[in-house]
Amino acid sequence: MANGIRIGIAGAGLGGVAAAGLLERAGFDVVLYDQAPGFSRLGAGIQFGPNVLKILAQLDGLDKELEAISCLPDYWVSRKWDDGTIMAKIPLNAERSRYGAPYITIHRGDLHQRMLERISPERVRWGHKLIDFSDNGREVALTFENGTVEIVDILIGADGINSCVREKLFGMDEAVYTGWIAHRAIISGQAAKALGLMSMLSGGLTTGISSVIIWIVRKANSTS
Ligand SMILES: Cc1cc2nc3c(=O)[nH]c(=O)nc-3n(C[C@H](O)[C@H](O)[C@H](O)COP(=O)(O)OP(=O)(O)OC[C@H]3O[C@@H](n4cnc5c(N)ncnc54)[C@H](O)[C@@H]3O)c2cc1C
Repeated sequence: MANGIRIGIAGAGLGGVAAAGLLERAGFDVVLYDQAPGFSRLGAGIQFGPNVLKILAQLDGLDKELEAISCLPDYWVSRKWDDGTIMAKIPLNAERSRYGAPYITIHRGDLHQRMLERISPERVRWGHKLIDFSDNGREVALTFENGTVEIVDILIGADGINSCVREKLFGMDEAVYTGWIAHRAIISGQAAKALGLMSMLSGGLTTGISSVIIWIVRKANSTS
């Protein structure tokens, strides 16, 4: 162990698991605590750039395993919401050699599962919702909703958008509505073909879905 340092990570989501995998390989005594009762294949599509893939390569070649189950879009295309005018077309895997790693789009659940497989199972404690912690300057005592208390040297807050760690350290933050709303759905490739959506999704740029298409829309509260 790296000087026997115990690190507790609140949250076994993408950030927590990545940190745990890298810290475990660096020799730290890491334990992940998550409020969920266990792993679930949650979420939808998520995108990772080459910089992230280079880091994940350090988790026993996870980059190669992810690439094999991902889509590798050639371009990122931004189109105007009403007439489809191309506003930006950014090369992604079309210029892969320039960045030294791919740009992938993948189901979050598949990604999360593959990342978790890189962590020793005994390092993940499901059903542990962190509700409080106290730092005496030497150690941090973690209190969980299930009544257990654990002592670590360092606490990492990776407990997502409603982080209890952030709230305790920096106080309650009010959410600010920006006026933007995103709708999303997952459609199987077969269904997309049957509905004639392939050419719409690829914007006529290619024969298949080899682009990430972003439709630029008006603000939800805009009248123009
Ligand atoms: C269920 C889910 C589905 C998502 N789907 C998508 C998607 O399809 N596409 C996309 O682009 N992004 C998605 N995201 C968001 C994306 O995963 C995150 O923005 C990004 O991974 C940030 O990672 P993170 O580690 O900060 O937080 P997250 O990946 O959100 O993980 C936070 C983890 O902390 C745990 N947690 C929260 N509070 C506590 C607590 N008090 N004690 C213990 N554990 C706690 C949660 O159970 C969760 O596992 C999703 C997030 C979640 C949680």
